Amino acid sequence: MAPSTALALVILLAAALARAEGPRIVALDAGHGGRDRGAVVRGVEENALALRIVEKTAAELKKQKSLFPYLTRWEDVFVPLSDRVDRAEQVGGRVFISIHADKVYGRKPRGVIVWVYGPNREIPKGPPRDPGERMRPAPPKEVVAASRLLAEHVQGALRRQKVKTAAYADRGGFAVLKSDKMPSILVEVGNLVDPAEAKQMQDPAFQDRVAKAIAQGVLSYLSSASDGVPRVSVAR
Ligand SMILES: [Zn+2]
Repeated sequence: MAPSTALALVILLAAALARAEGPRIVALDAGHGGRDRGAVVRGVEENALALRIVEKTAAELKKQKSLFPYLTRWEDVFVPLSDRVDRAEQVGGRVFISIHADKVYGRKPRGVIVWVYGPNREIPKGPPRDPGERMRPAPPKEVVAASRLLAEHVQGALRRQKVKTAAYADRGGFAVLKSDKMPSILVEVGNLVDPAEAKQMQDPAFQDRVAKAIAQGVLSYLSSASDGVPRVSVAR
């Protein structure tokens, strides 16, 4: 190897190390798809709404040079739950954000609900709906704490975008909240059963505000974090 080639390699390596922070991969997960339509109310399908908002969020993230969206699905296809998390971990996702819509009868409108992992509302009971689903153990405390911090950043950004959301994140045991590597949240953009929320979710302007808020929340979370799992003390 010629000395100049060796030197070039050293320079390349140094540059790669300097960029170790690199573009930060944000995993976006549109719920359901393919044979799994998700909630369907009056012809409005959760899988399509989720994909639309994921596409808009990806477009927002691309405006930030330091952020790089990774989508668990780009189109109307079925992806097993555990594959969604596995693939996002494999590509080095720094955070994982799953988008869904609710179908809950008799509930007052709550706006956008952000979920983090919590053992108190373990779902599902009984056999997994998705035969490909591998049951994951509960994520480590520090990842859960980071997920809560991520949820706070996203909820703050939602409020700044004038999108109604609760003061705190809900807690659930969804499979997509169980990564042991990435802080993970699930964003329920509304309840399809509620006519006003169903209408709002189909409004492109509302979808834009939600997408902007998620992108802003992720950016401010990652800016506050020295790495994917930031300085957070203990779980509540
Ligand atoms: Zn769903």
